[in-house]
Amino acid sequence: MTQQNTKGTALVTGASSGIGAVYAERLARRGYDLLLVARDQQRLEKLAASLSADFGVHVEVLKADLTQKTDIKTVAQRLRSDSAISLLVNNAGVALDGPLIEANGDAIDNMLELNITAVTHLAAAAGANFVAAGRGAIINLASVVALAPEIFNATYSATKAYVLSLSQSLHGELGKQGVQVQAVLPGVTRTEIWERSGIDANRIPAAMIMDAGEMVDAALAGFDQGELVTIPSLPDAADWNAFVAARQKLGPNLSHSQAAARYKA
Ligand code: NAP
Repeated sequence: MTQQNTKGTALVTGASSGIGAVYAERLARRGYDLLLVARDQQRLEKLAASLSADFGVHVEVLKADLTQKTDIKTVAQRLRSDSAISLLVNNAGVALDGPLIEANGDAIDNMLELNITAVTHLAAAAGANFVAAGRGAIINLASVVALAPEIFNATYSATKAYVLSLSQSLHGELGKQGVQVQAVLPGVTRTEIWERSGIDANRIPAAMIMDAGEMVDAALAGFDQGELVTIPSLPDAADWNAFVAARQKLGPNLSHSQAAARYKA
């Protein structure tokens, strides 16, 4: 029998494998009811059955292809209207291999729909619900390539820079209204994403690859500490703080009526 929970429901996209499946397990362990979203219904149902048996939480499955506008709308509508939902883990994402000029146009479109369009609409819907309730949290899966775009495929890195930027802006918009926002920037994490995008993960040094369980546990520790940006593998938080301080120092000089002296003839 499921117990009454006080955490509310976590909606996890891309819960059928990898990082999303680990979030689902860790959140069930914390006592959240779950709404699991992905395309592979069988995998979701298998996970749902095992999590509700192991943790006594209510787990629902919602099959959706988040590259399709109608499915994005269905999930967004649920996020907007279900007052039991208290956490969105905006996790579903794909990568692309190879340089932009060799990329398949349809594959680019799919990635942009999933990594950017769906993430944006779901964050908007969850944000509206959570602001009305005066509580709730949005966790967005970005990537360290948001900070190091030269090391990976151009469009994938750009989608993750978008997710980081969206999270920082959203924090400004929603933070004061009781909604917690976190961007998680994993490094290379052992999941199916590599195989799915045709990348040979064996080319990557083992010392750079983290297990998904360790990554999600670190991300949730950052979440518990109220971090806006969590970089699970970064040893010294002072390095990130210095980066933020350097960016903030630019602030007062980013918009003036006059061009800088070095640009004047
Ligand atoms: P993964 O194991 O390939 O999982 C991706 C998940 O997204 C799956 O559950 C997949 O489920 C779902 N998905 C894919 N296409 C979808 C679609 N069209 N509609 C709905 N769901 C879809 O990859 P992962 O590594 O866990 O990735 C999770 C997130 O972490 C992504 O945003 C990724 O960019 C980010 N990330 C990963 C790494 C890494 O090294 N692994 C590093 C940094 C960031 P279905 O196939 O069932 O739909």
